[in-house]
Amino acid sequence: MSYKYISMPVHRLIEEFSSDVHKVFEYIDSIYDRIHRVESRVRAFITIVPKEQVYSYVENLIRRVRSTYPLPRLFGVIVGVKDNISTRGIRTTCGSRMLENYIPPYDATTIEKLRNVGMVIHGKTNMDEFAMGSTTETSAFYPTRNPWSLERVPGGSSGGSGAALAAGEASVALGSDTGGSIRNPAAYTMVYGLKPTYGLVSRYGLIAYASSMDQIGPMARNTLDLALTLTAISGHDPRDSTSLPMQPVDYVELLNELLHREPRLKIGILKELFEGSDDEVRKTVYSSVDNLCAYHECVEVSMPYTKEAVAAYYIIAMAEASSNLSRFDGVRYGLKVPVENRSWIDAYTEVRTRGFGYEVRKRIALGAYVLSMGYRDMYYIRALRFRRMLKENLNSIFSKVDVVVSPTMPIPPPKLGEFFEDPVKIYLADVSTVIANLVGYPAISIPAGFWNGLPAGLQIMSKSLSEPILLYLSAQLEERTKLRDLIAEV
Ligand code: GLN
Repeated sequence: MSYKYISMPVHRLIEEFSSDVHKVFEYIDSIYDRIHRVESRVRAFITIVPKEQVYSYVENLIRRVRSTYPLPRLFGVIVGVKDNISTRGIRTTCGSRMLENYIPPYDATTIEKLRNVGMVIHGKTNMDEFAMGSTTETSAFYPTRNPWSLERVPGGSSGGSGAALAAGEASVALGSDTGGSIRNPAAYTMVYGLKPTYGLVSRYGLIAYASSMDQIGPMARNTLDLALTLTAISGHDPRDSTSLPMQPVDYVELLNELLHREPRLKIGILKELFEGSDDEVRKTVYSSVDNLCAYHECVEVSMPYTKEAVAAYYIIAMAEASSNLSRFDGVRYGLKVPVENRSWIDAYTEVRTRGFGYEVRKRIALGAYVLSMGYRDMYYIRALRFRRMLKENLNSIFSKVDVVVSPTMPIPPPKLGEFFEDPVKIYLADVSTVIANLVGYPAISIPAGFWNGLPAGLQIMSKSLSEPILLYLSAQLEERTKLRDLIAEV
């Protein structure tokens, strides 16, 4: 069995396949072989598509594209998809008992787009239930383990996607990010993850958590693959009312143009977010920032109210979740339970108690509370007001610097079970990431280095639609650190 394909970057895979399309089968074999060897320890997936099915999908694809040479841009590339993104004919559980047997009759727009460029879906990755969590431990099925250290979590909620990449079980992956769920696992599994500008990537077919912040985005083992995948999934979609009215953008082209021109930028180092981080994380991330400061101009910037951002985020996320999740009533959506001779309330209660896990039920209750009469002004409205202020604060920072940097996560990946002892600590660990979601700006997490064998990530955030700049800095840093295409031993 050849292992050359396991860590091969997407941009190299597509060269291989364009010289001989049939190499794609050898590639599929090696990915499935790898899954066979490591998945029982990592558990990155909730559903794995049987290999024969993937084979026949690709055979059909080859028949179809034969006549349209050249091959579609990402022909044959295997992508792991987070289990809250609807895939036609492939079970989509959202990490929940509520949707345990749900097989979507349609594809999300992002999935349609992936298929259009020739990508191949081989599995649905594990996640926290309804994307609520930072470790994959709220998954109704099992937690995923961090391939770099199996007794630790891979981060979350898109932890399955990060772990699948780090373990060599997929070449690229999709995650979703409402409050850090792409960047957190990217940092913890030593991969690259981008949360796009709100509205850049369609949410049609993404199972909603907090609609004003949810975004789908790419995760990859190097910057170029991130840019390729972002190009494939982004663009206007009339089926999503918050989709930005934009012409298609080729991020690979823009990235190459920037790398060629090498503009010098002004980088703001977010003081509070470095100060709030564990020593080892701070040191690791600082030294990766040093690489950037060797070329760009770095200044310290201050953003007070970081703790308040976490509070505002959780209030808004829970409020929106309580409304979004009301559709799971067992009639329109969700678990089916026997209803004969029972009151509506009885059946409904059973659906929601059996279907939802503890964390989800807790958030629905808290969300309903912050929206209830008498408390709405005190919590929800105040959080919205804070959100506006935060945006003004950030905009004034971005009038002085081009981007801001911070550790993606303030602590190293926790051991399994560790967070359950202290739920507030787990929420506070989202301090760097939730800011981008509250204001809708893009942010990227880039591998910064290992400390005692544990991964740490650097987050770069900037204004709306600055994805090319984020990719540019990521590529520059990658070139210096060589932290690319890494696969954990497992
Ligand atoms: N930790 C965040 C939460 O639990 C992550 C949410 C997300 O981005 N899906 O809400």
